[in-house]
Amino acid sequence: MADAVTMVDVLEARRRIGSLIHRTSLSQSAALTQRTGQPILLKNEHQQLTGSFKLRGATNAVLALSDDERRRGVAAASTGNHGRALAHAAKAAGSRAVICMSSLVPANKVEAIKALGADARIIGMSQDDAQVEVDRLVREEGLIEVPPFDKAEVIAGQGTLGLEIVEDAPALDAVLVPLSGGGLIAGVALAVKTLSPKTRVIGVSMERGAAMVACLAAGKPVMVEELETLADSLGGGIGLENRHTFSMVRELVDETILLTEREIAAGIAHAYNEEREVIEGAAAVGIGAILAGKFAPAGPTAVVLSGKNIDMGVHGQIVAGTHPVFGELA
Ligand SMILES: *Cc1c(COP(=O)(O)O)cnc(C)c1O
Repeated sequence: MADAVTMVDVLEARRRIGSLIHRTSLSQSAALTQRTGQPILLKNEHQQLTGSFKLRGATNAVLALSDDERRRGVAAASTGNHGRALAHAAKAAGSRAVICMSSLVPANKVEAIKALGADARIIGMSQDDAQVEVDRLVREEGLIEVPPFDKAEVIAGQGTLGLEIVEDAPALDAVLVPLSGGGLIAGVALAVKTLSPKTRVIGVSMERGAAMVACLAAGKPVMVEELETLADSLGGGIGLENRHTFSMVRELVDETILLTEREIAAGIAHAYNEEREVIEGAAAVGIGAILAGKFAPAGPTAVVLSGKNIDMGVHGQIVAGTHPVFGELA
């Protein structure tokens, strides 16, 4: 591919965004280490500014714009965390952000984006509907699209997270990464495989609407129905015109794992009860995979906790065991 993302791009991203993001910690989970007999390390990226890793890619993309582009402003269709991150990044760079999202996005995420000074627009029932409005803004109003995952600067920005993991734990057997559009895992896998080729990179998604896993099985980007899930930040398709993440995931990711809603809920509850951390469903899939026995650690393993932006009413129900997922629905 002519404009393939490389390790040089990841290092360049780190130089650009270093002063605007947190370098998050990698901490050992006593509970999961005891349970599995292998060191389990948590990458605490839910403690990132704006509450998710998406700030890395969004900040790198905004800082890579020309002065003229920055003046026109940026736009994105987002399930929430990317929109929030892009709003934050645009404000920090003195630019304007228009964030388009579907009506499936939880109200707390919409409010957070408005509070960051961005123009938040609710369009339709899916990521694809929101995308139509972004296309219009680009065409008719000259805004610059910063998509949530399929853009070189975004992937390189997310790769800085992988760089930090390898710096803090050079001899990992595996890294578990939440997987949706694949920007996070593509960037992380690029950095990890470059610096530590033997480390396995494993993607974890929900059973309900795992777009990238369906595309890998089909051998090409395909349409996947978006369903309601506790891992709402993992919803949405990868785009039929996918340029980067599909081929990168196919090349760099060793394995994928799918979780039920109840297994995701168990990850959220474990994070709270054992680690004393509030994380969202998308961020809980690595822990969920270990607890469900769907991933059996064979050596030191890092687990990416990717975000904390969960509706606290839902979180309370999960921790109390009263969420519908624990009943006959599961
Ligand atoms: C976006 C997101 C993901 C998935 O990232 P992709 O780059 O789309 O694969 C995982 N966790 C959280 C919290 C997210 O916001």
